[in-house]
Amino acid sequence: MDVRPAGIHHVTAIASDPQANADFYLNALGMRLVKKTVNFDAPDTYHLYYGDRAGNPGTIMTFFPWPNAPKGRLGAGQATTTSFSVPEGSLGWWQRHLAALGVETSRPVERLGEDVLTLHDPDGLVIELVAATDHHDTEPWDGGGIPAEHAIRGIRGVTLTEHDLDRTAGMLNGRLGFELAAELGNRYRFHTDEAGAGVGTVVDVLAEPRARSGLVAAGTVHHVAYRAPDQPTQIDWQQRLADDGVGVTEIRDRSYFTSIYFREPGGVLLEIATEGPGFDYDEPLLQLGRALKLPPWLEPQRAEIERHLPELVVGEHERTAPQSAGAANSEEAGK
Ligand code: ZN
Repeated sequence: MDVRPAGIHHVTAIASDPQANADFYLNALGMRLVKKTVNFDAPDTYHLYYGDRAGNPGTIMTFFPWPNAPKGRLGAGQATTTSFSVPEGSLGWWQRHLAALGVETSRPVERLGEDVLTLHDPDGLVIELVAATDHHDTEPWDGGGIPAEHAIRGIRGVTLTEHDLDRTAGMLNGRLGFELAAELGNRYRFHTDEAGAGVGTVVDVLAEPRARSGLVAAGTVHHVAYRAPDQPTQIDWQQRLADDGVGVTEIRDRSYFTSIYFREPGGVLLEIATEGPGFDYDEPLLQLGRALKLPPWLEPQRAEIERHLPELVVGEHERTAPQSAGAANSEEAGK
């Protein structure tokens, strides 16, 4: 069986204020809130999922927002940058859009033949918009006020900062099936090798032997999830990782996918998530993200959970959405 990942499924990071987080990803980056749920392991905290119109694997950025969370520290053993794909020629538009919202960005730079714009989310998470020629098999969301021609196509990849390039490269090459595609200084770019594999196919490793170790808290990535097409493939991955002596978890039910977790040799927490059942598993596609969804085992505690969650208003992006306005109105009329 081919156990090569098709690419990233999602990236999960830690935030502090959920409202500031939602405002940024919905309005500044124009992503769709595709699921509003709680951290299944700590249900007094939201788990917010942003993605494309359909919540396709490869487009998903998720957050655990802990109000008053301590600030994390970037460093070795971490995914230190998350990169999103935008269409070629879009960075000028993004610069103007973000400047109008008061979001500071770097000047675009060219790196390995691509234009890159760097910015930070409200908690300091490092984000890149990469004008990429990737094949985009995703569905850009224009309901957040970003024209579809410029909208984010998905997660292009992550950058891992590592003390020891060789050990991380060994796992990327060996067990995870990535191939070294380019080098620039201390940056080593790995690809899943399928041509036209779509979003989420890049991982850069920055070799920084003397960097201090990172601290995972607000403003840092918690883990990076790669996708498996189905559960038999996931089980095969789990077995092969265990055969390699890698500590890997049991399969966990995340409602919208199932997951296994393990660490790469440098310490970054990785996950293999199944592509299904997907985010329309418990609510219709048109209504993704509007209601607080809980897994069946937490439903009996809904009232208590809702009482403890901070207030979160996420309707604004939909009122300004030309394409979703009709759907919203017809749903209103149907009440
Ligand atoms: Zn995850």
